[in-house]
Amino acid sequence: MRTTLSIAIIVTFTAVLSSPAGAQQSTTPPSPAATQQPATPQASQAARAAQAKETEVWEPVPPVVTPGTTNSAPPSDALVLFDGTNLDQWVTVKDKSPAGWKVDNGVMTVEKSVGNIETKRSFKNYQLHLEWRIPTEITGSDQARGNSGLFLASTGPGDDGYELQILDSYNNKTYVNGQAASIYKQSIPLANAMRKPGEWQVYDVIWTAPTFNADGSVKTPAFVTAFHNGVLVQNHFELKGETLYIGKPVYKKYDTAPIKLQAHGDPSPPISFRNIWVRELK
Ligand code: MG
Repeated sequence: MRTTLSIAIIVTFTAVLSSPAGAQQSTTPPSPAATQQPATPQASQAARAAQAKETEVWEPVPPVVTPGTTNSAPPSDALVLFDGTNLDQWVTVKDKSPAGWKVDNGVMTVEKSVGNIETKRSFKNYQLHLEWRIPTEITGSDQARGNSGLFLASTGPGDDGYELQILDSYNNKTYVNGQAASIYKQSIPLANAMRKPGEWQVYDVIWTAPTFNADGSVKTPAFVTAFHNGVLVQNHFELKGETLYIGKPVYKKYDTAPIKLQAHGDPSPPISFRNIWVRELK
């Protein structure tokens, strides 16, 4: 009898030591549902359901967005910046006159003599879709081969702002922080996902605008995530300031800004764009 009792005590003690519950150092008291000993399997199920409820969130309910017919087509809440018909959403940067680039056959083509164009509207944070094409007859090399640019925020005339580089980087050597999908002279793309000249390239970009204090100092920096033809090329990259041709990047205070497309001065044949849309983010 005495031996049986001793074995029972040892077995119980060992079981307590080796159980996961006994080993855990819990800082939060168990919920009432967890401490109750369920009398029946049904009661046990009810206790688990009550515990599961504790981590459910029911509000706010996300807005319903109807996706496009393809993942490239604008969803229901997008602002279409170019649908192939006209440049009504765009102006010429230098004098704010109607954008003078050519629209033909559903495509807009850079008119280098006109210069850069930008959106009439200004934006802060957004998701952007844009398609671009290097012409098959492209010439030149290095930075002089299909150079253009997507300025995620145009903060002034010329090339002021934050540029996601557009270039023919299909078998075209250049400095890597200036190849296609680089944040110009700040961030080398994670991959070269170029298609051949003549084929459409796709950029999908998430832009988090910088914010500034009243004195002009940076409150929060800009971030960019970008996909080139579905391949991640910029992963939440923190910008050091505006993208400059010469010198170190610096921030310049702004609130909202247009999106700009570059008419680069290199002598290679001009590139084209189509299907541009934006979804503003809070
Ligand atoms: Mg450029």
